[in-house]
Amino acid sequence: MPKLRRTTTTHVAVLRELEVVRVEDVTPGMRRLTLAGADLAERSLDGSTLPAFASPGFDDHIKVFVPAPDADRPVLPRQRPDGLDYTTEGVRPLGKDYTPRRVTPDELDLDFVRHGHGQAAGWAEQVRPGDLAWIAGPTVGQAFPHDVDAFVLAGDETALPAIGRFLEELPPGPPAHVVVEVSGPQDEQDLTVRDGVDVTWLHRPVGAEPGTTTLLLDAVRDLDWPAGQVYAWMAGESTAARDVRTHWRADRSVPRDCLDVSGYWRR
Ligand SMILES: Cc1cc2nc3c(=O)[nH]c(=O)nc-3n(C[C@H](O)[C@H](O)[C@H](O)COP(=O)(O)OP(=O)(O)OC[C@H]3O[C@@H](n4cnc5c(N)ncnc54)[C@H](O)[C@@H]3O)c2cc1C
Repeated sequence: MPKLRRTTTTHVAVLRELEVVRVEDVTPGMRRLTLAGADLAERSLDGSTLPAFASPGFDDHIKVFVPAPDADRPVLPRQRPDGLDYTTEGVRPLGKDYTPRRVTPDELDLDFVRHGHGQAAGWAEQVRPGDLAWIAGPTVGQAFPHDVDAFVLAGDETALPAIGRFLEELPPGPPAHVVVEVSGPQDEQDLTVRDGVDVTWLHRPVGAEPGTTTLLLDAVRDLDWPAGQVYAWMAGESTAARDVRTHWRADRSVPRDCLDVSGYWRR
């Protein structure tokens, strides 16, 4: 992967057993789980220090270990002083990627898209306060992009936690144009929008499934491209992400160190 204009830090992988303390629907399509527990703090293992939970980058991700549909507990990796051991017998631990939406020393919010199909989305539908949750990471954190004049961000619902954090952590100065695809007006979120920032919400046509439209590509094509060096960030369905990356490379000549595009899920 080419180096981005972001300082990267790496962290030892730490498995944390936490408790679900709140369940709230931010919008009809997004469920927020608030996790808390002593494992957010630093602890020691065999003479080594396992660091406290930290998420320095707006688009950091953690692994959430969720049980198989017919199980009470997930298969978990084993904690070692230098990281996690996934070589458990039988089924390999399955961790799903989620973005820490809000982090305090005592709590962590994760926002789950209620897409209705998978193991993680299914788990988020049925957990209740008092249930346990297991997470690991982030193992890599990328600081805010530096030496850029403007930002363009695009994403679907899965990118909203990162975009929400981006807008809260955006330093004064550079303008930012943000485009978000959601199912409809009911799934728009209240985001921090300072002067110089605009957020455009795109609504899928009634009945259109996520990842089946060209809404994001069409919208980023139509943007008034900002002057100066633009940092272009996008996350969402893999094909949509690929198409936006191609457009930014070919039509906007975004250099590789400012082209930060990720497929977050695959149709
Ligand atoms: C770095 C990173 C950060 C991420 N952060 C978040 C986050 O904060 N919140 C979040 O909700 N997701 C986030 N995702 C996306 C999430 O990891 C995927 O959506 C994942 O597939 C969900 O797992 P699952 O077990 O629910 O579904 P899976 O078992 O992976 O998939 C089951 C079925 O559901 C479909 N599917 C999966 N995701 C979606 C979706 N979003 N919409 C519609 N259909 C879907 C698949 O195509 C498949 O058919 C992130 C992904 C990455 C890589």
